[in-house]
Amino acid sequence: MPPGARQRGVKVAVLEAETMGWGASSRNGGMVLTGLKLGMQSIAGKYGLDLARRMWQCSLEAILLVEQIVRDEKIDCGFARTGHLLAASKPWSLFGPRAEAAYMDREFGHSLRLVPQSRQRSEIGSDTFYGGLVDDLSAGLNPAQYVTGLAGAAAGRAPYCVQARACCRSSGEPGPSTL
Ligand SMILES: Cc1cc2nc3c(=O)[nH]c(=O)nc-3n(C[C@H](O)[C@H](O)[C@H](O)COP(=O)(O)OP(=O)(O)OC[C@H]3O[C@@H](n4cnc5c(N)ncnc54)[C@H](O)[C@@H]3O)c2cc1C
Repeated sequence: MPPGARQRGVKVAVLEAETMGWGASSRNGGMVLTGLKLGMQSIAGKYGLDLARRMWQCSLEAILLVEQIVRDEKIDCGFARTGHLLAASKPWSLFGPRAEAAYMDREFGHSLRLVPQSRQRSEIGSDTFYGGLVDDLSAGLNPAQYVTGLAGAAAGRAPYCVQARACCRSSGEPGPSTL
């Protein structure tokens, strides 16, 4: 349940067909990153700069929210602001990130660090790539531990927390499903 939801009288039921966190949420890479899938320059081109700035802000707040939940619920999941590196797979692949870094600085007041190949080992312990772009605000965690911690917190709070395959099948008929 999101922080503050209980105080606002929100009632939540968690229904899971398998075990809590069965899906991608417990099996993903655990990267808690700034921004969205597309670069912000592309997003601003599609949706305009104002909306892009709001989306960017949401992405920063999402990281803060995860950080706050981990702290408040005392979830032992290795959450750390490690930053993330966008690696260049070809020598010329740094041109895009370089332009994105300049754009982010100018339009979003957000600074990204260009890391040349000569210094990349200190970031990722590998010489495989041709340098990259680091965002120091990004974080990482162990997703299975995070989800286990969330499930424990939800079990103590949610009025209904149901974990059973049979209860979650829809009849397939039109209209509301029976649980
Ligand atoms: C390989 C991989 C790596 C990823 N890496 C990252 C990453 O590093 N960082 C990041 O931010 N995102 C990452 N993602 C994306 C992220 O994991 C997903 O966006 C996120 O898990 C989606 O959450 P969800 O709750 O919508 O779905 P899920 O986490 O998949 O949860 C859906 C749940 O619904 C249950 N369910 C299905 N049908 C029913 C039913 N009828 N009744 C009840 N329950 C049902 C399933 O059992 C499942 O547990 C990655 C995804 C993948 C696949």
